[in-house]
Formats: sequence, structure tokens, C-alpha cells
Amino acid sequence: MEKQTIRDTDVAGKRVLLRVDFNVPMDDKTGSISDDIRIREALPTINYLTERGARVIICSHLGRPKGKVVPSMSLAPIAKRLSQLLGKPVQTTGDCVGPEAEKVARELRNGGVLMLENLRFHAEEEANDAAFSKALAQLADIYVNDAFGAAHRAHASTAGVAQYLPAVAGLLMEKEISILGKALSDPLHPYCVMVGGAKISDKIGVLEKALEKVDSLIIGGGMACTFFKAQGLQVGKSLVEDDRLDFARSLMKKAGEGKVRLLLPADAVVADRFDAEANSRVVDVDKMPAEWMMLDIGPKTLVLFSGELRTCKTVIWNGPMGVFEFPRFRKGTEAIAAVLSDLKATTIIGGGSTAEAVQEMGYADKMTHVSTGGGAALEFMEGKVLPGVAALLDR
Ligand code: ADP
Ligand code: MG
Repeated sequence: MEKQTIRDTDVAGKRVLLRVDFNVPMDDKTGSISDDIRIREALPTINYLTERGARVIICSHLGRPKGKVVPSMSLAPIAKRLSQLLGKPVQTTGDCVGPEAEKVARELRNGGVLMLENLRFHAEEEANDAAFSKALAQLADIYVNDAFGAAHRAHASTAGVAQYLPAVAGLLMEKEISILGKALSDPLHPYCVMVGGAKISDKIGVLEKALEKVDSLIIGGGMACTFFKAQGLQVGKSLVEDDRLDFARSLMKKAGEGKVRLLLPADAVVADRFDAEANSRVVDVDKMPAEWMMLDIGPKTLVLFSGELRTCKTVIWNGPMGVFEFPRFRKGTEAIAAVLSDLKATTIIGGGSTAEAVQEMGYADKMTHVSTGGGAALEFMEGKVLPGVAALLDR
């Protein structure tokens, strides 16, 4: 990796400001954490630091408090869960900057852990305000960024603060950018990018970038319908982006010119309405009924897509194959996840919904890497420079 990491610096006895992405889903009714995977993903970095005698000052955002103190978005419950997971106390403060935070940070012992209050209680965080960045920097000797999921934003705690402290990557950040980076820039071939999800417009950059390197491009999910319409097929009430028909045509043309195999679904599970209890049936894609909509890929498509995937040495997958939230329309996504989990290939999952689907279906452990990145992973796949990565010291 081109950036320095915590492995490149001596952390013993140092105060480390550690930016993590603890923006975990919370249950509105009970106020408890509904999924703590983001906390668990940060444990290797926290343990690495404390085992070497660093004093760890953790900061994160949670939700969208929009620059105001919103008690339901306090990080206190997260600190509690972190303490359970680490098996040691985690101190908290009422604010992420200012005299109290400074005092607690100063008094931390080697190996101690402190969790600051929600960064976004200050509007200056998202504004990447210089004085706020300095106030954060004042708490520590070194800055470590492990928040890959927030790295596409230039905020005070992800970018600004790096101007005032030596800045290096944490282990999760390192893992994300080295695995994703290698797959994108120097993949083992045959290399396939598989894209699905609802809309083409969210994935334009990803599709264009993919064309430069892939041997095959698989398109499923709702966005396939815009390609079908561009080919003159009848797509009924399916999700279609009429303003992207030209893009779909030009992508198909470019794929042909670049000798990229472009695979679209051969059949579809169609429904009579967008509903978990909708009536459904399987039809070939050139026989979609006028009043119905495609909500999943069909069995012929599974054969087609898995045949392609089984020849690959690298696969990056972003975007579910269907409306996996409805049990009736999750088969395509589940079957594709199963195929990937069985491949002797580098398999990478990017995107919030795709990662969620793969986790929920029990295949996450069998993939090479499931990115914690969400939107950041997508921007990385588009070839964009992420501000939170750019701000770190070069090796
Ligand atoms: P990711 O978060 O992994 O990048 P997206 O947000 O692009 O994925 O897409 C996820 C959403 O796409 C899911 O909520 C899913 O229900 C929806 N989706 C997939 N296939 C279809 C379809 N055929 N019609 C409508 N929505 C779809
Ligand atoms: Mg999404």
C-alpha cells in the first residue's frame, strides 16, 4: 500500500486519535444497537494499539444530528458495547472537543481507551472547519484513520485533522484499500464485475470504470430493465430510467468494441405489483407482461451468470440481483451469493445493500472480502480519490 499505516509508526505511550465508523444501525424503539459489525471490524486496530501501550482516543459520527446535540444519537451505548467486546473499560466524555475531553485524554494511561461524543454534534465537523480540526488534533500525538466507510467525505475528522498530526491508516482501512485497490488495478484474469441494484444512475461511474479492465460485465437487478428497453424489449411496469437509455446503448456498444462479454438476464421473476405478497411467475425477458414488473432474475439467468462466474479468478459484486428484501424475490441474490462463496477466486462484495444481503444470507465469511465501505466503496470503484485516504502520509 502507498500509504503509511500504524505498522509504520511507534505508538507506545502515544495518544492516538482514532477515527472509526461506528455509525451503526440503532433500533428506534429500544435505543439498542441492531448490528454491531462495524464495531467488531475496528477491534483489530484498537487491540493492536492498546497492546503496544498507546492511549486510544476514539471518535466517530452517528446518524445525522446536523450540528446539534441529539441525545438519542449519543455514542454512549456504543462505548458500552465496545467495552464489552474489548473486555476493558471505555471512558466517555460529554463532548468531543474542549476542556473536559482534553482533561480525560491527558489523563489516559497506556493501553487505556476513551470514546469521544458524536462528532456531528458540531456543525464544524461536516464543514471541515480548521479550528475544529485543530481542537481535535490537540487531544493527541498521532491520528489514525480506520473509517473507510467515511473516507469519501472531506470532514474535519476524516481529512482536516490530518493537517495537524502525523496521519496513518488503521488495519481496517489498510485491508479495504489494499484488497479493493489490488482487485481494481491489477486483477487476476478472467475478471468480472457484476452490478445490480435498483438504478443505473447510481452506478454509471462504476460501470464505466469496470469496462476498462474486465473480461466480462454482468448486469442484473432492476437496472437490467433499462438495458432491455434500450434494446427495444417490452418491460411492463419494471423500474426503468428513460433518461439513461442512451447511456445503456453506449455501454453495450463500448463493451462490444472492447471485447467485453456483457451478460444480461435471460429470464425474470415478474410480479403483478411491488409487494412482498405479489403474485409472481417466471418469464423470458422478451415476454414480460405489460402490467407486470421484473423483481428478480430467473433460473435460466442463474445458469448463465454462474457459468460465467465459475470461469473467473476475480469477481467484484455490487448490487443485489433482485428485491431481496421480499422473500419471494430473494432467490436470485441468494443463489449468486452461494455461487460466489464456492469460487476459487478473489471475491469482493461492495455496496451497503449487497453487503447486508450477503451477511444476512450467511455467505460473508466465505468471500475474500466484504467491504464495510458502502458509498465509499462505490466511489473507490469509480476510481475516485477518497479525501480520507489522500490525507494520510505517503509511505
Ligand atoms: P448497494 O447498496 O449494494 O450499492 P443498491 O442500493 O444499488 O445496492 O441497490 C439495492 C436495492 O436495489 C435493494 O433495495 C433492492 O430491493 C433493489 N432492487 C434490486 N433489484 C430490483 C428490481 N428488479 N426492481 C426494483 N428494485 C430492485
Ligand atoms: Mg444502497
